[in-house]
Amino acid sequence: MQPNSVKPFSYEIFPSAGHVAYFSMEIAIHPGMPTYSGGLGILAGDTLRSAADLGVPLAAFTLLHRKGYFQQHLDSSGTQTEEVQPWNPADFCSEESARVTVLVEDRVVTVRAWRYDLAGRFGHVVPIYLLDTDLDGNSGWDRGLTDHLYGGDENYRLQQEIVLGMGGVRMANAMGLQVNVYHMNEGHAALLTLALLEAQLGGGPLGAATEADIEQVRRKCVFTTHTPVPAGHDRFSTEQAIRILGGDRTARLQQQGCFRDGLLNMTLLALRFSRYANGVAMQHGKVSRQMFPEFTIGTITNGVHAPTWMSEPMQQLLDENIPAWRRDNLYLRNAIDLPEDKFLAAHARAKEELLAEVGSRTGLVLDPKVLTLGFARRVATYKRAGLMFTDPERLKQIAAAAGGLQILYAGKAHPQDGPGKALIHRVVEEAARSSSELLRIVYLENYAWDLGAMLTAGVDVWVNTPKRPYEASGTSGMKAAMNGVPSLSILDGWWIEGCIEGVTGWAIEDGASDEDEARSLYSKLENAVVPLYRDSPEKWARMMRTTLAFNASYFNTNRMVKQYARNAYYPESLVEKKVKVEEEAFVTQ
Ligand SMILES: *Cc1c(COP(=O)(O)O)cnc(C)c1O
Repeated sequence: MQPNSVKPFSYEIFPSAGHVAYFSMEIAIHPGMPTYSGGLGILAGDTLRSAADLGVPLAAFTLLHRKGYFQQHLDSSGTQTEEVQPWNPADFCSEESARVTVLVEDRVVTVRAWRYDLAGRFGHVVPIYLLDTDLDGNSGWDRGLTDHLYGGDENYRLQQEIVLGMGGVRMANAMGLQVNVYHMNEGHAALLTLALLEAQLGGGPLGAATEADIEQVRRKCVFTTHTPVPAGHDRFSTEQAIRILGGDRTARLQQQGCFRDGLLNMTLLALRFSRYANGVAMQHGKVSRQMFPEFTIGTITNGVHAPTWMSEPMQQLLDENIPAWRRDNLYLRNAIDLPEDKFLAAHARAKEELLAEVGSRTGLVLDPKVLTLGFARRVATYKRAGLMFTDPERLKQIAAAAGGLQILYAGKAHPQDGPGKALIHRVVEEAARSSSELLRIVYLENYAWDLGAMLTAGVDVWVNTPKRPYEASGTSGMKAAMNGVPSLSILDGWWIEGCIEGVTGWAIEDGASDEDEARSLYSKLENAVVPLYRDSPEKWARMMRTTLAFNASYFNTNRMVKQYARNAYYPESLVEKKVKVEEEAFVTQ
């Protein structure tokens, strides 16, 4: 097959003109660009990669984050320090000539955009515009507004959100981009609705907006909420809103019910001005409806971009047997028919590569035959990175029964997250205390895209221990599934949908306390995971195969983007309109 010679088929889902404009505070665009912090940015990147593969007419907006999300250093006791990661936009992007302005406090701030062309496998390009305020003419403070991802205080954040939401809408206009749908990926971009309302009023006072004006904005907007953790929803005081956004706008937002408990709530703002909203897994949809009962909130379960997260050897195996998987990830379901031992062989190569990387980073020589668990994610306390150390003696016994156990950890704590940093410290200390010939525990520095891909492909079991119901979806377990790696996880987020006990992994049972859940984790390891790995390689191989066939075929962004297109962006597709017209014609005949 010659990938570049084939034009994408026109689905007729999309109108013949116009784009979806996708807004996200963070996007993992390229491993060399430190423009993301964690799961939200990776998801945004995977969404765009699949949109490009599928030929979806879409353009994305984010901030440049010139100083990058930080590089993590850990000393031997597990104390995290951070270093900025400046990067050169011109190495990856080209500068657009358009300039727009936004009003921040009472200053006029000029904004430019850098374009990154994300090309899909058939050559369709999704342009990503990275907004930048580092321009002559802006004050020193304003030039830094697009420097730091999740840096600074709430004032800085609200100012950034003006640049992203309002600056992004104006930039799209200035570049002549025709936009049919604005997709707010999380509430950070919610101020785009205000820019649309102001444009609708043609510069008239906001107070004059009618219900019909607001309906015009709503028709164009869709919103995805990403977290059930209250602190994850951006909120600003009335004083901040008046000072930074202005009195008129604040009054209008108050009148529209965008305040809760006296605070401007960006999730509420996005919900008020969207015609469609969704959570990112079945349970998260439910939790979101409880948090915001006055709104209709649907669900589109997250996914990952299959070729980005599947190891080379696994891709080869599939290319040789089911080449159609690249065009349509649903064909991954047919992996159920491949010989089991091929999965073991592909995985063994990914594991070797991972252990070589661990060796080169730490000098430790790990054993490729030994059962290896992985736990890597942003260190937020609800994810309970320390749960495995609830009873270190029991962990040692499990390692002895298994004939050896290796556990690999990685993850960054936000620089201002004291409890998160303390947790890393604790895991590193416990790791040093518990380690022996039979039990090797390693905390790897600077978790990022490249390390994440190696870990999810190379470990034997992916572990996740969030406190319910705070994991909206979680995506690293989906990356593991792309590699046939089963999960051992709390039934939260995506895992409620993905777990078939003993077939795609194992559930850690709900308990009344952390200790209860740790006991369930140990007994699943002891009674299910260890015996299967130690005694039955053929059954283990079969489990890898069902994990990939069942979960990789569903938890991918190829499926997810199609669901966004059909349910959020263009719910009434041209095909349906045509069918409807034909049906009506038939009825009236
Ligand atoms: C996938 C990924 C995440 C998100 O993982 P979760 O399981 O959703 O917590 C965070 N950081 C990196 C670098 C990743 O690759």
